[in-house]
Amino acid sequence: MSGIDTLPPLRDVIATHQLSARKSLGQNFLLDLNLTAKIARQAGDLSGMDVLEIGPGPGGLTRGLLAEGARRVLAIEKDSRCLPALAEIAAAYPDRLQVIEGDALEVDPLAHLTPPIAIAANLPYNVGTELLVRWLTPRDWPPFWSTLTLMFQREVAERIVATPGSKAYGRLAILSQWRADARIVLSLPPGAFTPPPKVSSAVVHLRALPEPRFPADPKVLERVVAKAFNQRRKMLRAALKGLAPDIEDRILAAGIKPTERAEQVPLEAFCALARAVAQA
Ligand code: SAM
Repeated sequence: MSGIDTLPPLRDVIATHQLSARKSLGQNFLLDLNLTAKIARQAGDLSGMDVLEIGPGPGGLTRGLLAEGARRVLAIEKDSRCLPALAEIAAAYPDRLQVIEGDALEVDPLAHLTPPIAIAANLPYNVGTELLVRWLTPRDWPPFWSTLTLMFQREVAERIVATPGSKAYGRLAILSQWRADARIVLSLPPGAFTPPPKVSSAVVHLRALPEPRFPADPKVLERVVAKAFNQRRKMLRAALKGLAPDIEDRILAAGIKPTERAEQVPLEAFCALARAVAQA
């Protein structure tokens, strides 16, 4: 019996339901329920919150989220083999777990969720960044979620929290930090997973800000940042050529030296540049 509920240990669940891990689905499972409860705690107080979980697999993190008091968990899982294991969890937590079989990139979960909403997941590596970018770039802000508590490969986690001057600093850092507080809250070695992945992992916690940190049009900011980092070794005046007429003047108007490289430019200056470009 596990420490957090009376359901069978995850190794038994995996054996009973024959859930051999599939690489194509990014399956690296967490089997230590103390660890999944610890990850769930990084999401903060979940009582009174609906939680969206992507890729519950055999349900380790799902059990952590429920045991830590989530009002409801909506889990989206692509692998139908996991559904019977998840049904056992749903039976142990009546009316608190709903599972949708499907691809998280295609399913719209909003109809099934009531705010306030937290998102928590040990993300499949192949869709993790794409989902994060979607959650960070909704049409309207604030977004439907209040917090994101997400496991990534360590290298991706570092790109999310990176500061100017570091190699990891780029589009993901700017998208994440413009409208959210982002920090790494937990690091995990490969051995924490079954099977162990090649690289270390980390949990990132993001809290949506009520408003962007600095004013800018989201579409223009995204365009400027994408172009600036597309050729990150070039000086900005060359990397941003063609983005707007008189681009060099606009870079200067934003208080940035045209000879700077994107990785030196802080978020506030990128927002000023987006405003200057928008006036073009
Ligand atoms: N949450 C479980 C854990 O922590 O042990 C499993 C995490 S495993 C890294 C990723 C999970 O995402 C797998 O269960 C996999 O089947 C599922 N998955 C992969 N691609 C998916 C997609 N596009 N939509 C929904 N689930 C997906």
